[in-house]
Amino acid sequence: MGAPYRGRFAPSPTGPLHAGSLLAALASWLDARAHGGQWLVRIEDVDTPRCIAGGGEFILHQLASVGLVPDEPPAWQSTRHSLYRQALDNLIASGDAYPCACSRKDIVQALARIGAGKARNGELVYPGTCRHGLQGREGRAWRLRLSDEGLRTWHDRRLGVQQQDLAREVGDFVLLRADGLWAYQLAVVVDDADQGITHIVRGEDLADNTVRQIALQTALGLPALRYLHTPLVLGPNGEKLSKQNGAAALDLSEPDTTLASAAATLGLSSVSGTMAHCLAAWTAEWRNRYGL
Ligand code: GLU
Repeated sequence: MGAPYRGRFAPSPTGPLHAGSLLAALASWLDARAHGGQWLVRIEDVDTPRCIAGGGEFILHQLASVGLVPDEPPAWQSTRHSLYRQALDNLIASGDAYPCACSRKDIVQALARIGAGKARNGELVYPGTCRHGLQGREGRAWRLRLSDEGLRTWHDRRLGVQQQDLAREVGDFVLLRADGLWAYQLAVVVDDADQGITHIVRGEDLADNTVRQIALQTALGLPALRYLHTPLVLGPNGEKLSKQNGAAALDLSEPDTTLASAAATLGLSSVSGTMAHCLAAWTAEWRNRYGL
């Protein structure tokens, strides 16, 4: 038998929860309850310049207002730097991480020299300039050294089989940024393992990160996880609802309606009754849907 189910919702406190982030919170809560497991909340406040003061506390308040209360005290990434440091030190010791001196401009120029085309999602594919040493330049960031495995395959419980050629589509990615901040990929992988997380349920916009996270888990010798990426909530302009494109904070004046609309977007039935009753009914429906 595998480890007991532990799931999590891991918001970045860069603004209040909106309809899109509530969907991921509700789906992760339902999946944990449907498995008879634990549901945790982790406030991902490592990217300090993007975090807003009091943002984490407000998100916890928003979650509680719609009946989603974590089973353990929330974890805050800003208090966990030593864990990330230790993981990076392990990767350096095993030769899986190397220092990089390249600025964005250096990378753009190196890509132009080799005639590399447009990068995926507008992000630059690191051409591996510092893989074999800094050539006397000063290290600014640390990157993961990827093996060239070609297409890597993983399974998503909703989307099915997914593939990505990490070396070609992303390149050796950053673990510790040039500005001294921990990269999301490292912090998320270290925390999921440290907190004993077994299942990840999050928005589909994050699916693209999964192969990087699996590569890091492998390099760190951490257990594999199961994944489910939820549909995105689209705004009136047809784009993903996000803090960046001005999504409104959740309406907490009518929490039942707010929660019901997240459930409806997940394709769950309309249920009447108390919030607790609705959550129980959706949990049962979720269990049937995913054959648990
Ligand atoms: N903190 C990330 C975000 O808010 C989500 C991390 C995750 O669920 O893996 O986009």
